[in-house]
Amino acid sequence: MEARKIVFATGNRGKLREASEILGEGFELYTPMDFGLTDDIPETGTTLEENSLQKAEYIFERKGCDCFADDTGLEVEALGGAPGVYTARYAGESKDFGKNMDKVLSELEALETADPSTTRRARFRSVVTLILDGKVHQFEGVMDGTIARGKSGRGGFGYDPIFIPDEYPGLTAADITEEQKNEISHRGKALRAMAAFLNTSCHPEQSEGSDS
Ligand code: IMP
Repeated sequence: MEARKIVFATGNRGKLREASEILGEGFELYTPMDFGLTDDIPETGTTLEENSLQKAEYIFERKGCDCFADDTGLEVEALGGAPGVYTARYAGESKDFGKNMDKVLSELEALETADPSTTRRARFRSVVTLILDGKVHQFEGVMDGTIARGKSGRGGFGYDPIFIPDEYPGLTAADITEEQKNEISHRGKALRAMAAFLNTSCHPEQSEGSDS
């Protein structure tokens, strides 16, 4: 069977690498760069759902082809769900991951100093928006875990060095292999849900109103 061609609205190489691995040979992924679209795609929403939709629509409006986008947030319980939708820019517009991680670590330490029973529970949440034949579909994936006391590991990207997934106690998402991360990750779950949807020959809205 021929691979399904689809555009992934991202300029993030870590996300692209993971998505290619997760979706496998059944999909041929293109990125905005392949069409000469090099500007940062705007993300001005106040939720992951809005930003994910905004990124997919950006491509659909310009290219009119099937596409998908992912918006991901790190939600730290003791920080009231922050950085959440502001995960990429938590420590400023430079999107510096080192500084972003340092900010989360120092904020948690300050809370712990005030209250030693402060929880380090956190989760990554991804919302994937697929635009298929002009119709919008969203898929969510969550990875639960805790925030480490310091950075560890050389794999993954973004905040992975400070996130300990529940499935790998004592190891961060940057300590485990990409295959291990993809199996349990927010993005893995959301993209596999999207792939399952795309791989079913009949979608609910296509049969609506049909007699047969
Ligand atoms: P966005 O979805 O591109 O807006 O990403 C938000 C922020 O989350 C960026 O700083 C990413 O590096 C970070 N991020 C997204 N996915 C992951 C992941 O799987 N692990 C660690 N950080 C991530």
